[in-house]
Formats: sequence, structure tokens, C-alpha cells
Amino acid sequence: MELSQRVQALQESATLAVSGRAKQLKADGVDVVSFGAGEPDFDTPAHIRQACKDALDAGHTRYATPVAGVNPLREAICGKFKRDNDLDYTPDQVVVTVGGKHGLYLAFEALLNPGDEVIIPVPYWVSYPEQVKLCGGKVVEVRPDESRDFKLTADELSAALTDRTKILVLNSPSNPGGFTYSAAEQRALAEVLADRDIVVFSDEMYDRLIYTDEPFVSFANVHEAMYDKTVTFNAISKTYAATGWRCGYAAGPQPIIKGITKLQSQETSGTATFIQHAAAAALNGDQGCVAEMRAEFKRRAEHMHARLNALPGVRCLQPTGAFYAFPNVAGTYARLGVSGSVEFATKMLEEAHVALVPGIAFGSDENVRLSFATSTEQIDKGLDRLADALK
Ligand code: PLP
Repeated sequence: MELSQRVQALQESATLAVSGRAKQLKADGVDVVSFGAGEPDFDTPAHIRQACKDALDAGHTRYATPVAGVNPLREAICGKFKRDNDLDYTPDQVVVTVGGKHGLYLAFEALLNPGDEVIIPVPYWVSYPEQVKLCGGKVVEVRPDESRDFKLTADELSAALTDRTKILVLNSPSNPGGFTYSAAEQRALAEVLADRDIVVFSDEMYDRLIYTDEPFVSFANVHEAMYDKTVTFNAISKTYAATGWRCGYAAGPQPIIKGITKLQSQETSGTATFIQHAAAAALNGDQGCVAEMRAEFKRRAEHMHARLNALPGVRCLQPTGAFYAFPNVAGTYARLGVSGSVEFATKMLEEAHVALVPGIAFGSDENVRLSFATSTEQIDKGLDRLADALK
């Protein structure tokens, strides 16, 4: 039996070998400190869990209608966009998806024809390139300089544009980079795009997890021409520590949202109905739980940043959002006798029992990703071990 060319061409995650070995070591009883988590280490807040139980008891157990998402949730999403992002959307510009991940996939599927180009700045979230390829698109990687926090500049964007460019993907705050674009930096990109027929996918999954005083600004809001060209993606996953609930959402121009909804009607019929009602409660309810989680992540971000920069051969940008540090560890490679991020991560796992994600999974072989969605004790224990191993 032969699998489709599509599946055969799909990249196995470069992190799989390292995370598989970490699991094996743990199963053998080795005390591994893991910095691999891509999700908050908190429980979903109690009032949101309760809203889910209430929704089940209220009988919200049948297919969600309409396919774009139940009305109370789409209204709550519009309320969230107004409150947090100063964006005016109506429910018919919003679609609820099975996690942020499938929202992005459906949007690529809705827009891409074979050979259409998608500009993806490096480092990128692992699924963008594979999703683009699955939809027949061509990935155009751009490598912004690490000294400018990996942020794409107007010149770099202009140089990457061709007649086939269909989509630009932006992700701020970034997974894995932990950096956040300022309004001015986004506006410079918007000016390049203002007169062009290009759609911007603004992945704003971490918009509530920001550690600077600068307010977060949505890309759709940075320039008057961008509202009609931007699809904004978000989810309850990171904001409400609800990754397993699989509830994401996208908002933007109606024809694109309609296209996504049409695809969703044939692919999944949308996320579970009772989850949708609980997600509405999360977005409409007290946001104190988000502030508490953010405060804790901010403390850890500062602590981890300081400790990483004290390691020989390591330099790390200050994480200003999300829950990842993405240090450059290339300064250790020669001394350790390793040739890249996979060998570095393998060595740290075998010798220091610390699990890191190799940066090559995100397109950058000089870096590794450390999640600080883990306790301060674990962070210190892991960094003590790294300090010993890098002495
Ligand atoms: N986009 C980014 C940048 C992410 O980090 C993630 C999750 O790791 C997603 C999208 C997908 O989110 P979800 O878990 O809601 O599918």
C-alpha cells in the first residue's frame, strides 16, 4: 500500500528524535528536566471548567450550529477583539475552529493555489511551512537578523515579494522567538503591503502574554489599509491554559471567513458545542486569571533570560511575550564538538539530562528553544545542569 505523495512529502518533526529519547530516559527512571512544553503549566481556571460542565448539563451536546461557531461565542469573540485589540468585527467576520492550528490550515487551504508563494520569517512556528506545502503553496523563507530580534524589516519584505506572493505570515508574540513587534515595526511592513493584493495572516495566539509596558497592537490595526487584508488568528489555548480544549478562532474579510467555514463544514463540523459555550464564558468572564498567569510568566521570563545570558557561549534576547526563550548557542558548538542544534540538544539530554527543542525545527540551527511553562524550581535545576555541562 502506498501513501499519498502529499503525506510522503510531509516533514517529520526534527524534534521527534530528541523528545522520543527524553521520554525513553524518563521511562528508564532518569530525572530529566524538560524545557519542551508548548503549553501553560497551569490548569484551566475553575470558572471556565465549571462553564463547560454547565454547558453539558444544559444539553449543548449536539452539532454546533452554525458551522462558523455558536452565536454566543462569536459575539464573545467580537467583544474580545474590541476590548483587547480595538478591532471592530461582526459575528459574520468570525469563525470558530478546532484549535488555532486548524484555523490556520483552513485559511491556507481557502487561499492557496498550486505555486502561490507564502512568505514566512524565520524562526517560525513549526506547522506553517508544512501546512503551506500540504495546500500546494510554496514556502518563501526570509531570515531576519537576530541582532534585530529576528524581526522582519520593510526592506527584507520588499526583497521577498514576487508576482506569486499571496500570503505573509506574521506571529507576534513569537513562538519560538519570544519577541514581539512594536506598532511602528508593524506599520513599516504594512506600508510595503498597502497597495498590494496580499493577505497577512497575523497569528496572535499569545497576545495576552506580554511582558513589556508597550501595549500589544494587532496587525489589522496598524494601518488603515490592513484591516481588509488581514486575517487575525487566536485561540483560548494559551490565554486560558486550555490547549486540550481545541478551540481557536479567526476573524477577517468576509469572503475568506466564508471560505474557511465552507471547508470546515466538510472537514470537522467545528469544535465541540459545549466547549464553544465554555469558551464564551472564558472570553466574557473575569480576566483576572489571565493577569495572574501573565505575572508569573513575566517573572520566569526575566529570571530565565538572566540565567541563560550568564552561560558561556550563550546569548539570549529578552523574551517580551509568549513563554519561550530562544538563545543562540552557536558559541558553544566548537568547544562541545557539535555541528548544530540537534547535536547540541542531544548532548545536553544525554550528559546533563536536560531536554531542549533544537532550533532547526523552527528554521534556525544556531538556537534552541526553552519553554518557561514549568516551575521556577525546574527552571533553576535545569539551568544549573546546563551551567555545569557548558563550563
Ligand atoms: N500558532 C502558534 C504560534 C502556536 O504556538 C500554536 C501552539 O503551539 C498554535 C498556533 C496553535 O494553537 P492551538 O493549540 O490552539 O492549535
